[in-house]
Amino acid sequence: MTRPDLLQRIAVQTAARERDGLRRRLRAIDHAEGAWLEAGGRRLLGFCGNDYLGLAQHPQLIAALKRAADDEGVGSTSAHLICGHRREHAMLEEALAEWTGRERALLFSTGYMANLGTLQALLERGDVCVEDKLNHACLLDGVRLAGAELKRYPHADADAAARQLQGRPGAAALLATDGVFSMDGDVAPLTALAALCAREHATLMVDDAHGLGVLGTDGAGSVAAAGLGPREVPVLMATLGKALGCSGAFVAGSAALVDGLVQFARPYIYTTAMPPALAAAAHAAVVLARGEGWRREKLAALVARFRAGAGELGLPLLPSPSAIQPLLLGDAQAALEAARSLEQRGFLVGAIRPPTVPRGQARLRITLSAAHGEADVDRLLDALADCLHGHAPEPGHAAATGSR
Ligand SMILES: *Cc1c(COP(=O)(O)O)cnc(C)c1O
Repeated sequence: MTRPDLLQRIAVQTAARERDGLRRRLRAIDHAEGAWLEAGGRRLLGFCGNDYLGLAQHPQLIAALKRAADDEGVGSTSAHLICGHRREHAMLEEALAEWTGRERALLFSTGYMANLGTLQALLERGDVCVEDKLNHACLLDGVRLAGAELKRYPHADADAAARQLQGRPGAAALLATDGVFSMDGDVAPLTALAALCAREHATLMVDDAHGLGVLGTDGAGSVAAAGLGPREVPVLMATLGKALGCSGAFVAGSAALVDGLVQFARPYIYTTAMPPALAAAAHAAVVLARGEGWRREKLAALVARFRAGAGELGLPLLPSPSAIQPLLLGDAQAALEAARSLEQRGFLVGAIRPPTVPRGQARLRITLSAAHGEADVDRLLDALADCLHGHAPEPGHAAATGSR
């Protein structure tokens, strides 16, 4: 018998993606300056990043990173449990625990790893994990890694979640949901899910990658905004690479949860700790995100302005209160063409296609940031009106040639 060749197989699968118009491609951005991006010799106004508070290039983050790198160098040189856990990590964990109102917090190198590690540490074969259909990929993958049973419910449907839980009455159960959904921008029905978990003796885990910094008084996230605390949501995960403008993630909860993760979460144990200088920068970001409420207010005002304008233009907006404002176009090709046509007009917007979103739900994922100005939003609306209503781009369009 001849063995299938793995490299040939993946090449065939890639070719199939190409045929379906679903091939993904990398592009190198040469330079970033606030919301502006330079690529291929052109300046584009980006509405695609997750730097919601405009902190990624903040001088205080850069200064904290430089200071710590001058003192400690670049690499942490080891895993947390050997000698990689530095004062900068410990101080950041304390600040994150305090911000989120939890006893402890534990840093992970990425959000993907935080979710893999947490699910793998908490769940075993025979357990059930109930998840929203639109949860982030890593929440699904973590259940697979744990060998637990994954049950998915239709988006934001707490009654369906209840039926999934009730289908496995004796099993240890985790209900995991995005706080703010990464491709739709809407907020999970957290109050209903918390009540359900209390009733069913299930543990509730919220991934607040897109809520932390953006929602809640002082930006503590979607859980705090819903008036829920550690009792209702004992497992809270959020990332440092979005509103905080850095990289990395954390899980916050009880001391017992964090101690357990340190023992059992393999993606925590068997990896190099994030650079201490990055932890120092993230700490500076936490202080700014908590303290500078004007960033949240500005972002909220830009979101309101965009939604009002898009509503007037009759654009296919999804009902999202967050910085993520998707325009649902349906067809993958239509989403790609809209993104291309926006790019000709000087804007960079993500075209999100299957399998990232369900078939027939391709979209432009427009993200707003406190780094944008009102005029930027207005220019984007003009361009959307042009290209979604089929007009030719005007030569010398403001966004293509202008600066901030
Ligand atoms: C981005 C994201 C992650 C992954 O976080 P990284 O730090 O980028 O690995 C996890 N969950 C959600 C909901 C996200 O949007």
